[in-house]
Amino acid sequence: MRKPIIVGNWKMNKTCKETVEFINAIEPVLHDAADYGVGAPFTALKDATATAKNLIIAAENCHFEDNGAFTGEVSVPMLEELNVKYCIIGHSERRTMFGDTDETVNKKAKRLVKADITPIVCIGETEAQYDAGLTEKVIRDQLTGSLADMCPNCVKDIVIAYEPIWAIGTGKSASKDDAQNCCAIVRDQVRKMYGDDAAEGVRVQYGGSVKPENIKEYMACEDIDGALIGGASLKVDSFTAIIDATK
Ligand code: 13P
Repeated sequence: MRKPIIVGNWKMNKTCKETVEFINAIEPVLHDAADYGVGAPFTALKDATATAKNLIIAAENCHFEDNGAFTGEVSVPMLEELNVKYCIIGHSERRTMFGDTDETVNKKAKRLVKADITPIVCIGETEAQYDAGLTEKVIRDQLTGSLADMCPNCVKDIVIAYEPIWAIGTGKSASKDDAQNCCAIVRDQVRKMYGDDAAEGVRVQYGGSVKPENIKEYMACEDIDGALIGGASLKVDSFTAIIDATK
């Protein structure tokens, strides 16, 4: 039985003060039906891990090298020092604006797993690819690259977020059938690459305009094990409503 995992991706939002206030407001409403977390900016991670008790604190990116001449980057040992246990990698905003590729995502995933930090590996097709009927191919290709050469036992414990790019921040969410179908393709690709245990263990999230009104229908789908949530994770009210809806 896979335990669902709901993670807010704050992106470039929230100061340290706002982070601490948010976590203190959310902690009392958490429950055991799922794992809950937030991806916070690097600057807020230290305060976030010091404040959180049950809320998972994730970084939103990392570098795959441990140190060196990489101005502005943050390494996995630096995250370890802050007690970070999850890290979002390969978000479409990083792929389109900051040059992340399947190859660098793969290096990041391997480095994170070595440090016992769970990668949340993001994939998803553009609107043009969706319109051209390329969604399945894009999903399989991205996973082939992003999860190459990992140990099957590691893959069973990671999280994969399927986020169609056309649904991110647009209010235009994927239908539950489309989302289920794509998350099933994700699981099937993991099965092809790493076998049954990895496929049955890996948790697959849907992301893209998830809100309190639609979270339940996604969570009812067989292959959807949670959600990665942008806009609706920024306010205590809407994130609480999502937590309540997943009891
Ligand atoms: P929205 O929930 O705002 O569409 O963002 C989704 C996302 O990018 C989560 O990583």
